[in-house]
Amino acid sequence: MAWALALHGGAGPARGRTYDREEAHMAEVLKRGADMLEEGLSALDVVVSMVRELEDSGFHVAGKGASANANGEYELDAAVMDGSLRRAGAVAALIGFRSPIMAARAVMEQTPHVLLVGNGAKAFALEMGLEEIEEPHAYYTPAVSRQVDPGELAHGTVGAVARDIGGRLAAATSTGGLLNKMPGRVGDTPLIGAGTWADERVAVSCTGQGEYFMRAAVAADISARVRYGGQTLAFACAGALADMETQGGDGGLIAVDAMGNVSAPFVSEGMKRGIATHTGRFEVSTFR
Ligand code: ASP
Repeated sequence: MAWALALHGGAGPARGRTYDREEAHMAEVLKRGADMLEEGLSALDVVVSMVRELEDSGFHVAGKGASANANGEYELDAAVMDGSLRRAGAVAALIGFRSPIMAARAVMEQTPHVLLVGNGAKAFALEMGLEEIEEPHAYYTPAVSRQVDPGELAHGTVGAVARDIGGRLAAATSTGGLLNKMPGRVGDTPLIGAGTWADERVAVSCTGQGEYFMRAAVAADISARVRYGGQTLAFACAGALADMETQGGDGGLIAVDAMGNVSAPFVSEGMKRGIATHTGRFEVSTFR
């Protein structure tokens, strides 16, 4: 019965403002997810449902809160992985749909592929009947509106990882990526093994400067450290994150393992996050 759930709303927060509204909303979402796991829903259903709510909230740089790229277009990335069956689905540079994570799930369940990008992803989402956004400029309310220096990898994302009472693990991540990014730029979020991963040992969702998470294959590295190195989840997460940080990047991640342990380390200033477990643990915070 050892269920566990962790959520994140990105590793972008900087001190100097409060995140009370974001934290209050995350606590509501976390509570719904905890109830779903308690009732016996699958890790896959729960992580997709959590990410969908976080996308719709407009509080994070994903879904409604996403920022436009340098051309003023909203190109979004998302991935989901079902650890028990080692299935995965992802979309990258998807334009025009309310829930990129729903598109990622459809790729996993309705195609033989793992990742669809750009126009192909869009055509597929249309075919699947996913909800379109008619007026992008009216729909999106960027969670971060500050001007960004082009050299700065400022960002935001949402993610969820869960272990259900059947012992299955799943991870889901969705993002608007970097603020003011180059058109066509894709980060770690939809790349299986970089920003998102789930297998029979761990489920991981990353957030931070994607370029560095890709070069360190952070999410899959955590599984490898557990599998080949016999490391605990906390030790594996800290090691993989340190390898990413050594390359010069910042960010954080959430992870659960098969025993229901949860880890949520970050090397950035803050990371919006929530953790709930069957033992009654229930925490939402942004800074240390
Ligand atoms: N990792 C995401 C990206 O690089 C952004 C983030 O997590 O904040 O696209």
